[in-house]
Amino acid sequence: GMGGAGFPTHVKLSPKEPEKIDYVIANCAECEPYLTSDYRRMIEEPEKVIGGLKCVLELFDNAKGILAVEDNKPDCIKILKDLTRDEPRISVAALKTKYPQGAERALIYATTGREINSDMLPADAGCVVDNVDTLVAINAAVRYNIPLMERIVTVTGDAIKDPCNFRVMIGTNYKELIDEAGGFVSEPEKVINGGPMMGFALFDLDVPTTKTASALLCLTKDQVSSSKEGPCINCSRCVEVCPGRVIPARLADFAAHGDKENFRKWNGMECCECGCCSFVCPAKRQLTQQIKSMRKMILADRKKK
Ligand code: SF4
Ligand code: SF4
Repeated sequence: GMGGAGFPTHVKLSPKEPEKIDYVIANCAECEPYLTSDYRRMIEEPEKVIGGLKCVLELFDNAKGILAVEDNKPDCIKILKDLTRDEPRISVAALKTKYPQGAERALIYATTGREINSDMLPADAGCVVDNVDTLVAINAAVRYNIPLMERIVTVTGDAIKDPCNFRVMIGTNYKELIDEAGGFVSEPEKVINGGPMMGFALFDLDVPTTKTASALLCLTKDQVSSSKEGPCINCSRCVEVCPGRVIPARLADFAAHGDKENFRKWNGMECCECGCCSFVCPAKRQLTQQIKSMRKMILADRKKK
Protein backbone atom coordinates (compact mmCIF):
# COMPACT_ATOMS: atom_id res chain seq x y z
CA GLY A 1 0.00 0.00 0.00
CA MET A 2 1.19 3.50 -0.78
CA GLY A 3 -0.71 5.33 1.97
CA GLY A 4 1.07 6.73 5.00
CA ALA A 5 0.86 3.47 6.96
CA GLY A 6 2.05 1.35 4.02
CA PHE A 7 -0.46 -1.35 4.99
CA PRO A 8 0.14 -4.36 2.68
CA THR A 9 -2.34 -4.29 -0.19
CA HIS A 10 -2.45 -8.06 -0.60
CA VAL A 11 -3.65 -8.36 3.02
CA LYS A 12 -6.29 -5.68 2.47
CA LEU A 13 -7.52 -7.46 -0.62
CA SER A 14 -7.74 -10.87 1.07
CA PRO A 15 -10.46 -10.47 3.72
CA LYS A 16 -11.78 -13.63 5.38
CA GLU A 17 -15.21 -13.20 3.83
CA PRO A 18 -14.85 -11.50 0.44
CA GLU A 19 -18.55 -11.96 -0.28
CA LYS A 20 -19.29 -9.57 2.60
CA ILE A 21 -17.42 -6.67 1.02
CA ASP A 22 -20.05 -4.15 -0.12
CA TYR A 23 -17.85 -1.20 -1.02
CA VAL A 24 -14.42 -0.65 -2.51
CA ILE A 25 -13.62 2.96 -1.71
CA ALA A 26 -10.98 4.86 -3.67
CA ASN A 27 -9.50 7.37 -1.26
CA CYS A 28 -9.23 10.41 -3.54
CA ALA A 29 -9.78 12.91 -0.70
CA GLU A 30 -6.18 14.17 -0.38
CA CYS A 31 -7.26 16.31 2.55
CA GLU A 32 -3.89 17.45 3.95
CA PRO A 33 -2.90 21.01 3.05
CA TYR A 34 -0.09 21.46 0.47
CA LEU A 35 -0.38 17.95 -1.02
CA THR A 36 -1.40 17.82 -4.68
CA SER A 37 0.04 14.57 -6.05
CA ASP A 38 -3.31 12.73 -6.04
CA TYR A 39 -4.96 15.79 -7.55
CA ARG A 40 -2.52 15.80 -10.49
CA ARG A 41 -2.94 12.06 -10.91
CA MET A 42 -6.74 12.40 -11.11
CA ILE A 43 -6.45 15.24 -13.62
CA GLU A 44 -3.75 13.70 -15.81
CA GLU A 45 -4.24 9.94 -15.50
CA PRO A 46 -7.78 9.34 -14.25
CA GLU A 47 -8.19 6.22 -16.38
CA LYS A 48 -5.39 4.53 -14.38
CA VAL A 49 -7.17 5.24 -11.09
CA ILE A 50 -10.44 3.89 -12.47
CA GLY A 51 -8.60 0.93 -14.03
CA GLY A 52 -7.15 0.02 -10.62
CA LEU A 53 -10.56 0.30 -8.98
CA LYS A 54 -12.04 -2.01 -11.62
CA CYS A 55 -9.27 -4.58 -10.95
CA VAL A 56 -10.12 -4.55 -7.24
CA LEU A 57 -13.85 -4.84 -7.96
CA GLU A 58 -13.10 -8.06 -9.88
CA LEU A 59 -12.22 -9.62 -6.51
CA PHE A 60 -15.49 -8.71 -4.82
CA ASP A 61 -18.60 -9.73 -6.74
CA ASN A 62 -21.03 -8.00 -4.40
CA ALA A 63 -19.15 -4.73 -4.08
CA LYS A 64 -19.72 -1.31 -5.55
CA GLY A 65 -16.85 1.08 -6.22
CA ILE A 66 -16.86 4.61 -4.84
CA LEU A 67 -14.41 7.28 -5.94
CA ALA A 68 -14.44 9.56 -2.89
CA VAL A 69 -13.22 13.08 -3.71
CA GLU A 70 -13.38 16.24 -1.59
CA ASP A 71 -15.61 18.92 -3.11
CA ASN A 72 -12.73 21.41 -3.40
CA LYS A 73 -11.66 19.43 -6.50
CA PRO A 74 -14.66 19.96 -8.82
CA ASP A 75 -12.50 19.40 -11.92
CA CYS A 76 -11.53 15.91 -10.69
CA ILE A 77 -15.13 15.12 -9.80
CA LYS A 78 -16.25 16.08 -13.30
CA ILE A 79 -13.53 14.05 -15.05
CA LEU A 80 -14.17 10.96 -12.93
CA LYS A 81 -17.95 11.25 -13.37
CA ASP A 82 -17.59 11.59 -17.14
CA LEU A 83 -15.30 8.57 -17.35
CA THR A 84 -17.52 6.35 -15.19
CA ARG A 85 -20.86 7.33 -16.71
CA ASP A 86 -21.22 3.86 -18.26
CA GLU A 87 -19.84 1.95 -15.27
CA PRO A 88 -22.87 0.69 -13.31
CA ARG A 89 -20.74 -0.52 -10.39
CA ILE A 90 -18.83 2.74 -9.90
CA SER A 91 -20.00 6.08 -8.52
CA VAL A 92 -18.28 9.31 -7.56
CA ALA A 93 -18.93 10.77 -4.10
CA ALA A 94 -18.26 14.48 -3.60
CA LEU A 95 -17.31 14.81 0.07
CA LYS A 96 -17.29 17.93 2.19
CA THR A 97 -13.83 19.46 2.29
CA LYS A 98 -12.83 18.90 5.86
CA TYR A 99 -9.60 17.66 7.39
CA PRO A 100 -9.12 14.69 8.11
CA GLN A 101 -11.73 13.53 5.58
CA GLY A 102 -9.18 11.15 4.02
CA ALA A 103 -8.52 9.28 7.28
CA GLU A 104 -9.79 5.74 6.76
CA ARG A 105 -12.46 5.83 9.46
CA ALA A 106 -13.71 9.28 8.46
CA LEU A 107 -13.84 8.26 4.80
CA ILE A 108 -15.81 5.08 5.47
CA TYR A 109 -18.30 7.03 7.56
CA ALA A 110 -18.63 9.83 5.01
CA THR A 111 -19.22 7.46 2.08
CA THR A 112 -21.25 4.65 3.68
CA GLY A 113 -22.44 5.88 7.09
CA ARG A 114 -20.70 2.86 8.68
CA GLU A 115 -18.47 3.24 11.72
CA ILE A 116 -15.35 1.32 12.71
CA ASN A 117 -13.07 1.60 15.73
CA SER A 118 -9.40 0.85 16.27
CA ASP A 119 -10.10 -2.85 16.95
CA MET A 120 -11.77 -3.29 13.57
CA LEU A 121 -10.55 -3.44 10.02
CA PRO A 122 -12.49 -1.71 7.21
CA ALA A 123 -13.45 -5.23 6.01
CA ASP A 124 -15.37 -5.69 9.29
CA ALA A 125 -17.68 -2.93 8.03
CA GLY A 126 -17.84 -4.45 4.53
CA CYS A 127 -15.34 -1.98 3.07
CA VAL A 128 -11.97 -2.02 1.37
CA VAL A 129 -10.18 1.32 1.08
CA ASP A 130 -7.30 2.00 -1.31
CA ASN A 131 -5.68 5.32 -2.09
CA VAL A 132 -5.10 6.83 -5.52
CA ASP A 133 -1.48 5.76 -5.97
CA THR A 134 -2.17 2.23 -4.77
CA LEU A 135 -4.94 1.87 -7.36
CA VAL A 136 -2.62 3.15 -10.08
CA ALA A 137 0.01 0.61 -8.98
CA ILE A 138 -2.59 -2.18 -9.01
CA ASN A 139 -3.63 -1.16 -12.52
CA ALA A 140 0.00 -1.28 -13.72
CA ALA A 141 0.74 -4.61 -12.02
CA VAL A 142 -2.44 -6.44 -13.01
CA ARG A 143 -2.94 -5.14 -16.55
CA TYR A 144 0.63 -4.53 -17.69
CA ASN A 145 2.76 -6.69 -15.40
CA ILE A 146 4.72 -3.62 -14.25
CA PRO A 147 6.01 -3.78 -10.67
CA LEU A 148 5.90 -0.77 -8.36
CA MET A 149 8.91 1.37 -9.21
CA GLU A 150 7.73 4.97 -9.16
CA ARG A 151 5.41 7.38 -7.42
CA ILE A 152 4.39 11.04 -7.53
CA VAL A 153 5.94 13.31 -4.90
CA THR A 154 4.83 16.88 -4.15
CA VAL A 155 7.81 19.15 -3.44
CA THR A 156 6.46 22.32 -1.91
CA GLY A 157 6.51 24.97 0.85
CA ASP A 158 7.56 28.64 0.80
CA ALA A 159 11.24 27.71 1.00
CA ILE A 160 11.09 25.98 -2.42
CA LYS A 161 11.69 28.09 -5.54
CA ASP A 162 9.37 26.23 -7.94
CA PRO A 163 6.92 24.01 -6.04
CA CYS A 164 5.78 21.11 -8.23
CA ASN A 165 4.99 17.42 -8.47
CA PHE A 166 7.56 14.92 -9.72
CA ARG A 167 7.12 11.40 -10.98
CA VAL A 168 10.15 9.75 -9.36
CA MET A 169 11.73 6.34 -9.19
CA ILE A 170 11.39 5.06 -5.63
CA GLY A 171 14.76 5.55 -3.97
CA THR A 172 15.46 8.93 -5.59
CA ASN A 173 17.31 11.17 -3.16
CA TYR A 174 15.38 14.12 -1.68
CA LYS A 175 18.32 16.42 -2.44
CA GLU A 176 17.86 15.72 -6.16
CA LEU A 177 14.16 16.60 -5.94
CA ILE A 178 14.94 19.93 -4.29
CA ASP A 179 17.52 20.74 -6.98
CA GLU A 180 14.97 19.89 -9.69
CA ALA A 181 12.47 22.23 -8.01
CA GLY A 182 14.95 25.11 -8.35
CA GLY A 183 16.49 24.74 -4.90
CA PHE A 184 15.70 26.85 -1.84
CA VAL A 185 14.76 30.53 -1.98
CA SER A 186 15.70 30.74 1.68
CA GLU A 187 17.10 28.25 4.16
CA PRO A 188 14.14 26.15 5.38
CA GLU A 189 13.39 26.24 9.08
CA LYS A 190 11.75 22.83 8.91
CA VAL A 191 11.62 20.06 6.29
CA ILE A 192 8.77 17.59 6.57
CA ASN A 193 8.42 14.21 4.93
CA GLY A 194 4.68 14.19 4.13
CA GLY A 195 2.04 16.81 4.89
CA PRO A 196 2.08 19.48 7.62
CA MET A 197 -0.40 17.60 9.81
CA MET A 198 0.73 13.98 9.66
CA GLY A 199 4.24 14.15 8.22
CA PHE A 200 7.46 13.90 10.22
CA ALA A 201 10.45 16.22 10.34
CA LEU A 202 13.58 15.33 8.40
CA PHE A 203 16.95 16.30 9.80
CA ASP A 204 18.97 15.30 6.75
CA LEU A 205 18.06 15.56 3.06
CA ASP A 206 20.40 12.78 2.02
CA VAL A 207 17.50 10.36 2.30
CA PRO A 208 15.87 8.20 -0.38
CA THR A 209 12.17 8.45 -1.21
CA THR A 210 10.07 5.44 -0.29
CA LYS A 211 6.82 4.11 -1.72
CA THR A 212 4.84 6.00 0.95
CA ALA A 213 6.61 9.36 0.44
CA SER A 214 3.82 11.60 -0.81
CA ALA A 215 5.49 14.97 -0.25
CA LEU A 216 8.50 16.96 0.82
CA LEU A 217 7.41 20.15 2.56
CA CYS A 218 10.03 22.85 3.13
CA LEU A 219 8.81 25.58 5.47
CA THR A 220 10.37 28.99 6.08
CA LYS A 221 10.86 30.56 9.50
CA ASP A 222 7.65 32.59 9.02
CA GLN A 223 5.64 29.40 8.47
CA VAL A 224 6.91 27.62 11.57
CA SER A 225 5.74 28.60 15.01
CA SER A 226 8.65 29.44 17.27
CA SER A 227 6.63 29.53 20.50
CA LYS A 228 7.78 27.19 23.21
CA GLU A 229 5.52 24.54 24.68
CA GLY A 230 3.63 25.84 27.73
CA PRO A 231 1.32 24.35 30.35
CA CYS A 232 -2.23 23.31 29.47
CA ILE A 233 -4.75 26.09 30.12
CA ASN A 234 -7.74 23.70 29.98
CA CYS A 235 -9.33 25.52 27.06
CA SER A 236 -10.72 22.26 25.58
CA ARG A 237 -9.95 23.27 22.00
CA CYS A 238 -8.14 19.96 21.44
CA VAL A 239 -11.28 18.07 22.50
CA GLU A 240 -13.53 20.11 20.22
CA VAL A 241 -11.52 19.33 17.08
CA CYS A 242 -10.68 15.69 17.77
CA PRO A 243 -12.28 13.36 15.18
CA GLY A 244 -11.40 10.35 17.36
CA ARG A 245 -13.69 11.71 20.11
CA VAL A 246 -10.99 11.38 22.77
CA ILE A 247 -9.46 13.86 25.21
CA PRO A 248 -6.03 14.65 23.74
CA ALA A 249 -4.85 16.71 26.74
CA ARG A 250 -5.53 13.82 29.11
CA LEU A 251 -4.03 11.20 26.77
CA ALA A 252 -0.85 13.23 26.34
CA ASP A 253 -0.51 13.35 30.14
CA PHE A 254 -0.88 9.56 30.35
CA ALA A 255 1.67 9.19 27.57
CA ALA A 256 4.11 11.53 29.31
CA HIS A 257 3.89 9.35 32.44
CA GLY A 258 4.10 6.08 30.52
CA ASP A 259 0.67 5.14 31.89
CA LYS A 260 -0.42 2.56 29.29
CA GLU A 261 -3.35 1.27 31.32
CA ASN A 262 -5.12 4.61 31.59
CA PHE A 263 -4.15 5.52 28.04
CA ARG A 264 -6.03 2.44 26.84
CA LYS A 265 -8.92 2.99 29.25
CA TRP A 266 -9.39 6.54 27.94
CA ASN A 267 -9.56 5.19 24.37
CA GLY A 268 -6.13 6.41 23.30
CA MET A 269 -6.06 3.81 20.55
CA GLU A 270 -8.97 5.61 18.81
CA CYS A 271 -6.61 8.46 17.88
CA CYS A 272 -5.96 8.53 14.11
CA GLU A 273 -2.87 10.73 14.54
CA CYS A 274 -4.42 13.53 12.46
CA GLY A 275 -2.51 16.30 14.26
CA CYS A 276 -5.56 18.57 14.77
CA CYS A 277 -5.09 18.78 18.55
CA SER A 278 -1.48 19.98 18.28
CA PHE A 279 -2.48 22.43 15.55
CA VAL A 280 -5.13 24.21 17.64
CA CYS A 281 -3.46 24.04 21.06
CA PRO A 282 -2.69 27.61 22.21
CA ALA A 283 -0.12 26.23 24.66
CA LYS A 284 1.70 24.59 21.71
CA ARG A 285 1.69 21.24 23.46
CA GLN A 286 3.14 18.37 21.42
CA LEU A 287 -0.05 16.37 21.92
CA THR A 288 -0.01 14.30 18.74
CA GLN A 289 3.64 13.41 19.09
CA GLN A 290 3.16 12.11 22.63
CA ILE A 291 -0.03 10.21 21.80
CA LYS A 292 1.56 8.76 18.68
CA SER A 293 4.58 7.44 20.61
CA MET A 294 2.33 5.79 23.18
CA ARG A 295 0.18 4.19 20.48
CA LYS A 296 3.30 2.79 18.85
CA MET A 297 4.41 1.24 22.15
CA ILE A 298 1.00 -0.34 22.75
CA LEU A 299 0.84 -1.69 19.18
CA ALA A 300 4.34 -3.15 19.63
CA ASP A 301 3.19 -4.82 22.88
CA ARG A 302 0.22 -6.33 21.04
CA LYS A 303 2.49 -7.76 18.35
CA LYS A 304 4.71 -9.43 20.96
CA LYS A 305 1.74 -11.30 22.46
S1 SF4 B 1 -4.16 13.48 16.73
FE1 SF4 B 1 -5.25 14.56 18.34
S2 SF4 B 1 -7.07 15.40 17.35
FE2 SF4 B 1 -6.27 13.81 15.98
S3 SF4 B 1 -7.39 11.95 16.58
FE3 SF4 B 1 -5.48 11.98 17.75
S4 SF4 B 1 -6.01 12.92 19.68
FE4 SF4 B 1 -7.66 13.42 18.24
S1 SF4 C 1 -5.86 22.70 23.48
FE1 SF4 C 1 -3.93 22.68 24.64
S2 SF4 C 1 -4.25 24.12 26.27
FE2 SF4 C 1 -6.27 23.66 25.45
S3 SF4 C 1 -7.03 21.94 26.72
FE3 SF4 C 1 -6.01 21.05 24.96
S4 SF4 C 1 -3.90 20.69 25.68
FE4 SF4 C 1 -4.82 22.14 27.08
